[in-house]
Amino acid sequence: MMNVCFQCGIYRADKIIDPAGPFAICPECGFKHPFLQLPLLIVSGASGAGKSTVCQRLTSRITQAVLLDSDILWRSEFNSPETNYREYFETWLRLCKNISQSGRPVVLFGAGAGVPENLEGCIERRYFSAMHYLALVCSDSSLSERLQARPVWRGTRDAKYIEEHIRFNRWFKEYVGEPEIERLDTTNTLPDETVAQVAAWIHKRAGEADADRISR
Ligand SMILES: [Zn+2]
Repeated sequence: MMNVCFQCGIYRADKIIDPAGPFAICPECGFKHPFLQLPLLIVSGASGAGKSTVCQRLTSRITQAVLLDSDILWRSEFNSPETNYREYFETWLRLCKNISQSGRPVVLFGAGAGVPENLEGCIERRYFSAMHYLALVCSDSSLSERLQARPVWRGTRDAKYIEEHIRFNRWFKEYVGEPEIERLDTTNTLPDETVAQVAAWIHKRAGEADADRISR
């Protein structure tokens, strides 16, 4: 449990990061805790863009990183758009930080995780060397078709739901800013090809992290 100081025992999520170690320094007693500062990889996109399919298909095939779907921790208590869902994303970053201590970066799949302002302001953000964002995008019509093709129980055929996700899909396509969001257009791509492209992106980003650690 990294947030509890090994020397004074006080819980502080807001440790001071010394990249030289890297160390997480306790603000109470100054204890320097060495840790692995790995990147966090985010695969995002609107509902229907293909995140879940890719996550499911790659989870058993990629061993260089730990792939997780952010929906697994979702609960109604986390539903606070007014705070950018802060508690939810602090929980996720804390979990990813702890998983990273085993030496493999996490690839987090989720819609909200792909909005940089949801993550970049979190206290736990400091424990990652970088955040790499990839968004799966497609044309409005193909997003709509994919949502309409899902089983009724998922509620994605509802006109309001489709409209909301078309807007979100456009937001990813039009986003310009820092940090950068890389985009992968899946409109005319077969699922196998999308899976392979995302796998290549993960290998590249995780490979950079390995090279960075070896050179230290
Ligand atoms: Zn301490």
